[in-house]
Amino acid sequence: MFKCEQCPSVFAVKRNLVAHQNKHAGVRFPCTACPLTFSYKTGLNKHTKNIHGIVNVPARLRPMTAAPITAQPVPAQQVQIAPQIFVPDAPAGGSNMLTEDEICMNAMDEFEDTG
Ligand SMILES: [Zn+2]
Ligand SMILES: [Zn+2]
Repeated sequence: MFKCEQCPSVFAVKRNLVAHQNKHAGVRFPCTACPLTFSYKTGLNKHTKNIHGIVNVPARLRPMTAAPITAQPVPAQQVQIAPQIFVPDAPAGGSNMLTEDEICMNAMDEFEDTG
């Protein structure tokens, strides 16, 4: 039996005692996917498996990009329709000068009148 020197806890397995003593020493096991920390590695493993769905993998086998999967919002395809721009026939300022279109119209009127 392995007895903790700092509390009455007794452990049958030495590594359990070591893990327990780490708790006394303030050693925490941080979660790789969220800011939580745990006193025991088993607690961390249980957390990562239950909360994040991550099965405990040895660190050396863990892929480098072990980032939590976050849902990326897909931007909706927005079809932009160009607004109809209405250009006034007469130029601003009240000018008496005729635009090219008006000159053409006048010419056609004269043509029809004489035809
Ligand atoms: Zn203890
Ligand atoms: Zn976590």
